Amino acid sequence: MEFEFEKRFKCPYCREQISMLLDLSENGRHQYIEDCEVCCQPIVLEFEIHDHKLSAFTSKGSQ
Ligand SMILES: [Zn+2]
Repeated sequence: MEFEFEKRFKCPYCREQISMLLDLSENGRHQYIEDCEVCCQPIVLEFEIHDHKLSAFTSKGSQ
């Protein structure tokens, strides 16, 4: 079964619309850092997964 989900959001740095693939296979709270595909700055992604569905999502710049 596939648990990849394409999430679209705006980069906190350059405000461009970007998308990233999230892994929904593990329930619970997750945090990781991905570089923006446009400006290459590190974006901190925080999200929660319940029943393999995205239930909360925030993206912010790392300090
Ligand atoms: Zn960016």
